[in-house]
Amino acid sequence: MEYINKAVFINYLSCPTLGWLTKRNKIPRLTGLNNDFLIYESKVIKQKARQLFKDSVIVQKNNDSDVFLQTSKFVTDCKTSAICNAYFLAEGYYAKADILKRVDQNSWHLFEVKSGSKYKAKYTNDIAFTAMILSKANITISKYSILHLSSDYRLGMQIDSLFEEIDSTQKVELKLLEFFSIYNQALSDINSEKMPEPYLKRSCKNCPVFDTCMGNNLKNHIFDLPRLSIPGIEGLISLKVDTIDKVPNDFELTQMQKIVKNSVLTNINYISDTLFDELNSIKQPYYYLDFESVTTIIPLYPNIAPHTQILTQFSLDKTDAKGNILNHYDYIADHTRDCRREIAQQLIEYLKQNGSIITYSNSERVSILKLINLFEDLSGSLNKIAERIVDLELILKKNYYNLNFHGRSSIKKVLPVLIPKETYLDLEIGDGGDAAASFAFMALGMYDKEQIEKTRENLLKYCAKDTVAMIYIHQFLINAINNIAIKSQTS
Ligand code: SF4
Repeated sequence: MEYINKAVFINYLSCPTLGWLTKRNKIPRLTGLNNDFLIYESKVIKQKARQLFKDSVIVQKNNDSDVFLQTSKFVTDCKTSAICNAYFLAEGYYAKADILKRVDQNSWHLFEVKSGSKYKAKYTNDIAFTAMILSKANITISKYSILHLSSDYRLGMQIDSLFEEIDSTQKVELKLLEFFSIYNQALSDINSEKMPEPYLKRSCKNCPVFDTCMGNNLKNHIFDLPRLSIPGIEGLISLKVDTIDKVPNDFELTQMQKIVKNSVLTNINYISDTLFDELNSIKQPYYYLDFESVTTIIPLYPNIAPHTQILTQFSLDKTDAKGNILNHYDYIADHTRDCRREIAQQLIEYLKQNGSIITYSNSERVSILKLINLFEDLSGSLNKIAERIVDLELILKKNYYNLNFHGRSSIKKVLPVLIPKETYLDLEIGDGGDAAASFAFMALGMYDKEQIEKTRENLLKYCAKDTVAMIYIHQFLINAINNIAIKSQTS
């Protein structure tokens, strides 16, 4: 028999259909380097947390049923002061307790280890699930804590500086009452032969099976409205509106949402009257800039807090008015050290001349502002760079909409719609998450010389693709305006 685990139960809470599908392994598994890195980091954090409990025993998982059979008795008989990684089985559910610390002969203190650096509400759900199964397995818990990462930790410090403890006893006890009240219903729904009937709800928006569930065969779903707020989603659901064409005229929408709705109703792509002026305000020569970065839980380099975003590379193209590349510059950091100062200096060197610096999103400007905070002596030159930045994505969002964007404006969504032969599919590293993960694997010494060479080459190709994509999108918009001007002259 397959037991109900935490992922199944937590997904059930957001949607009974999703919980049912999760139990049957019908949710697409996350793959790729980024996912591999997340799994690696999570394992490392749990291992480090165990080191805090010196006199502890770690339950080894060889065979599920053996571990389950052992654990309750094992806990009762255990003579050590802490037990890590213990699995518990109760009435069709199972849970793993990260750390149990003995309080007295009869009770334990349960710790859930988290890699975030501040408390999140979902942590209470996670620990309460484990608490519920422990209670059913007759293990008495008198205190519940979350161990999360301390933002004061720096590389080289003692292991006890890595974590902060939050006493979650009150919150968990309240949550437990809620969980116990649905325990039997959840068991029956999840184990039922019949899938619970799906219905449209807020959590459908980010659901991994949306396309085959509520989004199946529905064109222009309300989730295609960009940045639809939670009250907006709930408001439309309460009106039984599932597609954009049914959104009532008096329903409040943002300017960008109105553009999408209008395009859907008229079945015509949108070009604003102000696109010409916005494009004209971009000064030549054009520079296109893209950064890549890495964010790790345990810092890669000294004097950096956990979860700090570290710039690792950039691509910079200089073009003429027609999009011909006059110069290409790139930079990739030495993965063995923090190279942010070098990145700042190289940018200053390459961006001495005038001309707008075109980025896609505001994140490059934000990164430069962070460099200004770090390197005061470079702030004058970096400020000048920041002032020249033009966000092409914002220009596109305000002034151009193609029905095939489906409410998205990311470079990877927009590029193949506007320039169908251009995609990221031919690249070994094809998205920012995988780029960051592969850099982190290099920095952690997990790649050999050959892998490092190949990875650095692939990272340079990936970042260069982003700047070329910007050139294509910019030129597409310029041509769209020119075509309108030609048409109006000939009509
Ligand atoms: S799309 Fe919605 S109804 Fe379907 S499984 Fe996901 S959350 Fe549930």
